[in-house]
Amino acid sequence: MTDSQRRPATGGAAPASADASAPVDLDPPDWERFRAESHRALDHMIDYLAAVRERPVWREPSPQARERFRRPLPAEGRGLAAALEDFERFVEPYANGNIHPLFMGWAQGAGTPAGMVAEMLAAGLNSNCGGRNHIAIDVERQIAAWMAEVFGFPAEASGIFVTGTSIANFLSLLIAREHALGERNVRKNGLRALEHQLVAYASREAHNCVRQAMELAGVGARHLRLIESDAGRALRLDALIDAIADDRAAGLHPFLVVGTAGSVDTGAIDDLDALADIAEREDLWFHIDGAFGALAALSPALRPLVKGLERADSVAFDFHKWLHVPYDAGFFLARDPDAHRRAFAANAAYLTRAPRGLAAGETWPCDLGADLSRGFRALKTWFTIEVFGTERLAACIEKSCRLARRLEGLIAASANFEMRAPVTLNIVCFGVKDDPGGQLNREIVMELHESGEAAPSLTVLDGVPTIRAAIFNHRTREADIDAFIGMLERAAQRARGEPPLEPLASPREDGEPLSLD
Ligand SMILES: *Cc1c(COP(=O)(O)O)cnc(C)c1O
Repeated sequence: MTDSQRRPATGGAAPASADASAPVDLDPPDWERFRAESHRALDHMIDYLAAVRERPVWREPSPQARERFRRPLPAEGRGLAAALEDFERFVEPYANGNIHPLFMGWAQGAGTPAGMVAEMLAAGLNSNCGGRNHIAIDVERQIAAWMAEVFGFPAEASGIFVTGTSIANFLSLLIAREHALGERNVRKNGLRALEHQLVAYASREAHNCVRQAMELAGVGARHLRLIESDAGRALRLDALIDAIADDRAAGLHPFLVVGTAGSVDTGAIDDLDALADIAEREDLWFHIDGAFGALAALSPALRPLVKGLERADSVAFDFHKWLHVPYDAGFFLARDPDAHRRAFAANAAYLTRAPRGLAAGETWPCDLGADLSRGFRALKTWFTIEVFGTERLAACIEKSCRLARRLEGLIAASANFEMRAPVTLNIVCFGVKDDPGGQLNREIVMELHESGEAAPSLTVLDGVPTIRAAIFNHRTREADIDAFIGMLERAAQRARGEPPLEPLASPREDGEPLSLD
């Protein structure tokens, strides 16, 4: 075949398909069959969610499952039914486990069946939410306005969805940098032209992504001062004030303080009101990493813990943690919409705004962050808030804090375990007594994962590996916490090489009915 035969002539039609009656597209050839297969898939997943308690929390992916994902790139498709069958055999049994009521690792949301439906609807629309004049942009603005109300921000505050709090914290750093440098035009000139080195401040309990944001922004991790924390693991204000004074005396340029509302290790909350005072006095951008803790503001009972949130310049948080919006749904909210826009807006020809039509409208999400093409994360968040309402969502948040207190009480009464950090919200850090190196703690956590009984995680507090139960799941009940302490006691006996205790009865199903199922 010559080159001219292989290619269609310039301006000519696409090559004719072998069967002219079968269009080349990706829609189902038979919509009724597609309907039946998709309904079966949805029914299957609803059964899966309803029976979540009957399965282990986690299972190691089998060699066959791993092998399934090492196949050559398929040239020919096998159809939806075959893909669904593989999903049921090789994917579903080996999932992360965070939907299970005994998953307590890291800081993860459980999702909701309602959120799943919203995610499917959003995928059907397949909207590109970088901007333009369509309703998804209004839904996203609705979420920003609602969160401004929840946090006590002005109504004109601007916000956007991002993957998670890690990226939302990074956005805050870029805005703070731009804000601090103003006319020096850091977006154009970069940082090398500056005569004074920028420095930022956060507690030593701050999430590692704050440090990473300093790296990504080119300010450098060395210029993040990690300030000591007090007995409650909140940032020490006197140490912060001293650090700022030292840096100013050394000719540096303090520009940002990051407060933590709910630290990832222990749930500690900085004195946000006092940080707002210091930031005001020192002319620093005041950002809050409230990944999960900021949403305590939804609960009238917990709201006093995050007092001062309303004075921040910006807040980063996740709907996918304590609000159980399906992954991913991070959010960034800025008090001053102009400062937010100044850090990101650009004028590319292909993004020109029109007075009318689909390209109309001002301040598109792509003016407020680094993403251009983006999915419709706002829809699953809007569904979650509309379906449950803030009172029920807050009741689930309060419940997880109550369960954390219950676990704290059981640990304190245990012969094997002791508490390792104060409980502020929903995170309980504890360890085996007389285990200075934390080796038994590591053993216990790995063993609970492998047995599929429960999934706490491990962290390191003051240099010692420590067991950490972060209770986020709306499905977790008192009976689960009581069963969990039994699992821990038995795992401790085994880790110490002592004969196991009798297993406890499985959790009663008549526990508290409150969940988002
Ligand atoms: C989870 C968490 C983060 C990171 O959020 P992602 O959504 O995982 O990016 C940052 N800070 C705190 C306090 C967190 O708990």
